Amino acid sequence: MAVTSSSTLLLRNLSTVGRIAQSVRANSRIFSTGEMIRALPRIASPRSISSTRAAHNEEAAAKAASDTGAPTIFDKIIAKEIPSDIVYEDENVLAFRDINPQAPVHVLVIPKLRDGLTTLGKAEPRHIEVLGQLLHASKIVAEKEGIVDGFRVVINNGAEGCQSVYHLHLHVLGGRQMKWPPG
Ligand code: AMP
Repeated sequence: MAVTSSSTLLLRNLSTVGRIAQSVRANSRIFSTGEMIRALPRIASPRSISSTRAAHNEEAAAKAASDTGAPTIFDKIIAKEIPSDIVYEDENVLAFRDINPQAPVHVLVIPKLRDGLTTLGKAEPRHIEVLGQLLHASKIVAEKEGIVDGFRVVINNGAEGCQSVYHLHLHVLGGRQMKWPPG
């Protein structure tokens, strides 16, 4: 009995699908494939929702921050006044995990002495050595984290570049497939 009613339901459903297919065929001169695809509701995945939210938070933080030359939270991290998860450290450079990671590996590499480098845009010839040290430290971090064959180094510069902390820092990101353009 249960089998019979399942079969009846199935037949009814098949006939409904058939009617829909006929109607789509009849209207195919009105709707192009592109129009039909555009008409479909856009379903955002949880990941795209959370990455959009993170992007908005970053933008808001960047708009709220300004390059005053005042000490930043990174000074407290360098002085070990607040905790951080340090990945690499030498005389000139400190690398620690980002508190709000955007990838399985997300490490910030900063100069211990800011020396006017609130942004990359403030770089002068006297900074060439430390800039090289930061890039080299980024490669060491990538090696230590096991991502040296595929990673990204990002420097956000100024409000429009989405910079929120005015102490030069390199983001070392990896552990997932990166996309391009970066957005
Ligand atoms: P940016 O937006 O390029 O200036 O990057 C600043 C980064 O610093 C952001 O990715 C923040 O998540 C990160 N950040 C802020 N405060 C801390 C903290 N206390 N420890 C680790 N990362 C932090």
